[in-house]
Amino acid sequence: MPLTLPRGLAAAFALTALAAPALAQSVNVYSSRHYDSDDRLYTEFTERTGIEVNRIEASADELIARLEAEGDNSPADVFLAVDAGRMTRAENSGVLQSFDSETIEARVPPHLQHPENLWFGISQRARIIFYAKDRVETPPRTYEALADEKWDDQICIRSSSNVYNQSLLASIIEVHGEDAAEDWAAGIVENMARAPQGGDTDQLRALISGECDIAVANHYYFLRGFDTDISGLSDNIDEIGWIWPNQGERGAHVNLATAAQTAASPNPEAAAALLEFLTSEFAQRHFAEANNEYPAVPGVGLDEDTARLGLFIPDTQTNTAAFSRNAKAAQQIFNEVGWN
Ligand code: FE
Repeated sequence: MPLTLPRGLAAAFALTALAAPALAQSVNVYSSRHYDSDDRLYTEFTERTGIEVNRIEASADELIARLEAEGDNSPADVFLAVDAGRMTRAENSGVLQSFDSETIEARVPPHLQHPENLWFGISQRARIIFYAKDRVETPPRTYEALADEKWDDQICIRSSSNVYNQSLLASIIEVHGEDAAEDWAAGIVENMARAPQGGDTDQLRALISGECDIAVANHYYFLRGFDTDISGLSDNIDEIGWIWPNQGERGAHVNLATAAQTAASPNPEAAAALLEFLTSEFAQRHFAEANNEYPAVPGVGLDEDTARLGLFIPDTQTNTAAFSRNAKAAQQIFNEVGWN
């Protein structure tokens, strides 16, 4: 397969060339995490180890294309993704290498690790249902119920170009098959209060503005509204209720932020140090406290804000490998039903 960069990408890369320090040990990270709070994580790592972190941020697809194009000459050591499906895509592109670490082996539960150690989960995020408490008396309790005609013109959910929705639909395909998944997606489009727009926070804002009664978002975008002052959300956040979907059956759709060592990694020792650091008490607490994600490592206590949504049953039956296996079918369905 020929390697082609998406248009404009080559230029963007040239502008963001890695500034590697001449003497100090360093590790180069390609990250599709888009959270400013992660700066604190890397600062702590450098303080502890003396290893500098050089970071390039872009979407996972852009970073995978870049890793493919760079091949053996890639300066990247570590790849971080916010979606298990994208990490599987990286795996299939051959840009990762397996690595053995007793530390990671011991700290991360087996179901959050790749069976051949190509990647592991660093934090968990649930995609759940939110509703306007004053307008919805009996909110939908399952993803399936969102497609019910009862919710005609009431649902806000972001674009299908977003990986969170792609993996959600991929999980529906895995559970119900493609035909039923297409009916479901068509039902959601039918029920949309407006054409998809904005990020997850915007779907929550629309509950407060009254534009929609039901919204779908990752759990931490809601929790952030308590921690920090988010315009259009924080002041009236008590008006929003949440539902852990599909409790009592397969459980809530949970995705993983994941970490891996890249195939060409020129600084393997520094890479190993960073990857192990990501499973440390400090890093795991960081994911919970700074971004309200759920830690991958069991026994790491949740801060009060992150614990706010209570206990839930996650969907651990639907293997995250399905997110990438069904990605193409999901995209076809989105196109078919006009979910932009
Ligand atoms: Fe996010």
